Amino acid sequence: MTTHRIASLLRAQPLGESVTVNGWVRTRRDAKTFSFLEINDGSCLKNLQVIAEASLPNYEAEIARLATGCAVRVTGELALSPAKGQAVELKAREVTVYGWADPESYPLQKKRHSFEFLRTISHLRPRTNALGAVARVRSVLSQAVHDFFKERGFFYIHTPIITTSDCEGAGEMFTVTSFDLDQPPKSHGKVDFSQDFFGRRTSLTVSGQLEAEIYALALGNVYTFGPTFRAENSNTSRHLAEFWMIEPEMAFCDLAGDIDVAEALLKHLVQRALTECREDLDLFGQFIDQGLIGRLENVLANPFIRLPYSEAIERLKASGHDFEFPVEWGLDLQSEHERYLTETIFAQPVVVTDYPKAIKAFYMRQNDDGRTVAAMDILFPGIGEIVGGSQREERYEVLLARLTESGLPLADYQWYLDLRRFGSAPHAGFGLGFERIVQFVTGMANIREVIPFPRTPGSAGF
Ligand code: ATP
Ligand code: MN
Repeated sequence: MTTHRIASLLRAQPLGESVTVNGWVRTRRDAKTFSFLEINDGSCLKNLQVIAEASLPNYEAEIARLATGCAVRVTGELALSPAKGQAVELKAREVTVYGWADPESYPLQKKRHSFEFLRTISHLRPRTNALGAVARVRSVLSQAVHDFFKERGFFYIHTPIITTSDCEGAGEMFTVTSFDLDQPPKSHGKVDFSQDFFGRRTSLTVSGQLEAEIYALALGNVYTFGPTFRAENSNTSRHLAEFWMIEPEMAFCDLAGDIDVAEALLKHLVQRALTECREDLDLFGQFIDQGLIGRLENVLANPFIRLPYSEAIERLKASGHDFEFPVEWGLDLQSEHERYLTETIFAQPVVVTDYPKAIKAFYMRQNDDGRTVAAMDILFPGIGEIVGGSQREERYEVLLARLTESGLPLADYQWYLDLRRFGSAPHAGFGLGFERIVQFVTGMANIREVIPFPRTPGSAGF
C-alpha cells in the first residue's frame, strides 16, 4: 500500500483523493459524533488533523481509547478544513492501531517538558516538537555541508577514528585498548602497550586535520566530516566528549582564502536552514529564543569582521569592562572575552587572526614578525568560538624547529615532516564544530539538545 508523508500532503493538498498516513497520535479530542485526532509522522512539525466518525466499526473499542503516543495508520479522503489553523484535514475511512501507549506510564504527555527531563529519556525525546525539529535541522545542515563542498570541487575524505597521534595536544584523549583492564600486561610497573591490539598505544581521534593534510597535498581540496572525541572535563553548555567536526583542508591556500571558505560555509548553512527549515526555525523563534531569526539574518547581511588578535586585545582593554580573566597580549582569549567581542563590541561574527605563537599549535604557520602565527578563530554571538583554523607551516626547517620546541616525539611526526620534504605547498584549513552551528541555528541554549545522544562527563547512556 502506498502511504503519504504528512509534509508532502500538506504541501500538495490532493483534495478528494484517497490517502493513507502512518504516524503517532499527539492528541485526541472527542465531539458528539466523532473524534479529532492530531497525527504527527515526523516528516514536519505540523500535525495532520483526522476526523474519525463514531460510526467507524472500531470506534468504541479502539479509536475512542487512543491516547498521546499511539501509533496508527489512517486511510481516508483529504478535504478542506473548516477549522482555523490548518488548510486540510483527513476524513478517516479506516483507522488501524499499530501500537498502544498507556497514558499512565507514557512519559510524554501534552504538557511541555523541560529539556533536562527530556535528556533522561533520549529514546523518546525526538517525538517532541522541539527535539524532532532539531533532528530535522541537523539532517538538513549535514546534507548542506556536503552540497557546499561538492559545488566547490572538494573531495570527501574519511580519516581514521582510531589513531596513534595526539594531533596537536588538542585535548585529553580516550585510550582504545583490548586489554583486560583488571590485569593488563606490565613492564617496569607500567602498562605495556606493545602487547596491545595494535602493538602500541592508540586513542580516539581529536581531529582529522593531520590526515586531511595528506590528502589535500594530493587531491587539492578535501574535507572530513566525522566524529571526534575529547576527554576534557569541561562541563559546559558548549562542549561534548563526542562531537562531529567538519574539517576542510585546501592546498595552495593562505589564511585569507581559508577565512573566505569558512565564512562562505557558515553563511551557506544559515541560508539553507532559513530556506529549508523555516517552519522548524519559527518554532524555535517563538518558544526558545525570540531574537533567533534576526540573529540568523544578521549573519548573512554583512561580511564578517576580521580583526588581528593584537587589535582584539586593544579593543577589550579599551572597553573598560571588568572581566573575570585578565586581558593581556600573550594570554589566550577566554570565552567571556570572545563573547564580549562578538556580542557587545561588534554585535556580529568576528574573525580573530594572528594569535601569539606560544598559545597555538605547532603546525600553524609562523608570521614574519616571529611572534604570531597565521591562525584564525571565528566567534559567533551566543556561541563564542565556532571555527578554529590556520594556514599550516609548509616550511620544513621552521616546522622541525617548532616540533622540537614543542617537545613532541619527532619519530611520530616523520610522515608529517615528509609532506614538507616532498612537494610541499602552502595550505590551510579549519575545523567547524557541527553541534555549535546546529546550536546557533536552533537557538538551543545547551549543546546536549542538538546531538541525538550526548556524551558528556558522567553520562554516556540513555
Ligand atoms: P574551545 O576553545 O571552545 O574548547 P577548541 O579551541 O578546543 O574549542 P578546536 O580544537 O579549535 O577547539 O576545534 C575546532 C572546533 O570544534 C571549535 O571551534 C568548536 O566549534 C568545536 N569544538 C571543540 N571542542 C568541542 C567540544 N568539546 N564539543 C563540541 N564542539 C567542540
Ligand atoms: Mn580553537
